[in-house]
Amino acid sequence: MARRALVAGLGIAGMAAAIGLRQAGWQPVIVERAPERRRGGYFVGLMPEGRQAATDLGIRDHLHTRNPPGGGKAWSLTRRGDLEPGLGFLHQPGDPAAVVRGDIEAALWQGVQGDVPVRFGTRPLTIDDTGAEVRVLLEDTATGEVRRESFDLVVGADGLRSEVRRMVFGPHEDHMVGWNAMICAFQLKEQVPSFEEADSITVARAGRAAWVFGFADRPPTVLLTYRTSDVDAEFAGSRVERLREVFADMDDPVVRHALDALEETPDFLFDSVHQVKMPRWSSGRVMLTGDAAWCLNLYSGMGATYALRGGAELGRALREHPDSLDAALTAWESELRPSVVRHQHLARVKGQLFVPSNVPIEVVRSVAVRLACAMRERRLAKARAKEARAA
Ligand SMILES: Cc1cc2nc3c(=O)[nH]c(=O)nc-3n(C[C@H](O)[C@H](O)[C@H](O)COP(=O)(O)OP(=O)(O)OC[C@H]3O[C@@H](n4cnc5c(N)ncnc54)[C@H](O)[C@@H]3O)c2cc1C
Repeated sequence: MARRALVAGLGIAGMAAAIGLRQAGWQPVIVERAPERRRGGYFVGLMPEGRQAATDLGIRDHLHTRNPPGGGKAWSLTRRGDLEPGLGFLHQPGDPAAVVRGDIEAALWQGVQGDVPVRFGTRPLTIDDTGAEVRVLLEDTATGEVRRESFDLVVGADGLRSEVRRMVFGPHEDHMVGWNAMICAFQLKEQVPSFEEADSITVARAGRAAWVFGFADRPPTVLLTYRTSDVDAEFAGSRVERLREVFADMDDPVVRHALDALEETPDFLFDSVHQVKMPRWSSGRVMLTGDAAWCLNLYSGMGATYALRGGAELGRALREHPDSLDAALTAWESELRPSVVRHQHLARVKGQLFVPSNVPIEVVRSVAVRLACAMRERRLAKARAKEARAA
């Protein structure tokens, strides 16, 4: 008889894990706390490893990507108000695929729908690993009704503030490392005036930055990010007013347009930045994946990629170790942990590219961006000349 797994969370990590489990012959059930599937979301750059994982999970053909030709034009706005060629997220090595989070979730949904039971408005209340099975008390969040069920494995894919992690591995404070930084991400209705639809724009100052991410076929999304010494205080009061205060001395057309758009939209993500650090991502018959396990955070630009890899590698490990769950979970973790740890470290450096922490770093950052742009221009010119010679 096929073994049963409970997956908590219908995000990228949860659906990827469910598909991986199906590929290994398991019967997963997904429970999602929200009453329905979410859509849309913010810009995500999917790296080659993530695209490979999408292929391994059999959903690559369903993934709608939105890259402007050549990665689109990217601009930096300087302190003097000058517009300079900039380096967009899509100009990184590896040619990231431009998507919104909902594009990845929609592709995964194609792989899950009809094949994996999904129970919305449901969350685990207690988890009891007896060694032979895991007994889970599940709550219907609309009615408050509870029922007990047994599984061979529980997968916590319930995000940064994972309840599965809290119940089985200990309190949030033991695993969440705060970065003293905040983010606000949302969709623009219209591009910043005078820019082309697919342009990307960065305004990065010491401690604050605004990023506009352009797409080929939809209006851009915005990321406002800033550093703070008191994260708790950031959640008190109006988010919009707080952001206006933080960006008060950046009265340029990009920040102005973004803040005005934020005022109009009911749908934005406002959160603090963390990483999750754990000595081990599984204990007995309970495992974590995605942000619940290792949250790389947005500065790494790798969270979605690794949420997909987590599921693809889980499927592989379970297929390679069909008779021992313990061996499969050990192999799964050994495969992922070295690169996850590397990306957690790299995120600190990338964080300075997103939002420099002080003026000297802001200066170094802008020199580095100018150099990288010049090098990219030279590379492109060489490629164009080579093409012209070949024609
Ligand atoms: C602004 C921003 C930009 C980003 N850019 C990039 C990028 O360019 N490239 C990249 O690779 N990554 C990026 N990321 C990171 C990436 O989006 C995340 O790492 C990824 O989406 C995490 O997926 P997840 O499934 O682990 O968690 P989540 O997306 O948090 O999903 C968790 C799911 O579990 C559900 N849930 C929560 N609690 C419970 C419960 N108790 N019971 C049942 N269900 C529950 C939630 O409702 C949700 O559906 C970015 C993140 C942000 C915020």
